[in-house]
Amino acid sequence: MTDDIVARLRQTHRIGCNCVGCEAADEIERLREELTASHESHGNEVGSLTERLSLAIHERDEARRDRCMARAVIRWDLEHPNSPQRSETTIIILAWQIADEQGWDCFKEER
Ligand SMILES: [Zn+2]
Repeated sequence: MTDDIVARLRQTHRIGCNCVGCEAADEIERLREELTASHESHGNEVGSLTERLSLAIHERDEARRDRCMARAVIRWDLEHPNSPQRSETTIIILAWQIADEQGWDCFKEER
């Protein structure tokens, strides 16, 4: 004998039978389909929210990196008024430091 309640309800009945057992089997099947569909759409929703969130974080970090770099240039120029040239590396290191001061981890992929 099968474990499945729907199969058991239908065991001795024909398609088109109108007894309460067959009605129950139809209802259980309908509810199972509904449940599966709802799980699937919920899964998709969570997936797309996760995707949007990670895109937003990516954009935020990009804006933060730009800001740290710009502030690094300003700070370096203020602190070294007579220096002829600032190197890219010094500016990046200073930008990392500024990010740390803000408590930002926007350079985490580059360090
Ligand atoms: Zn029946």
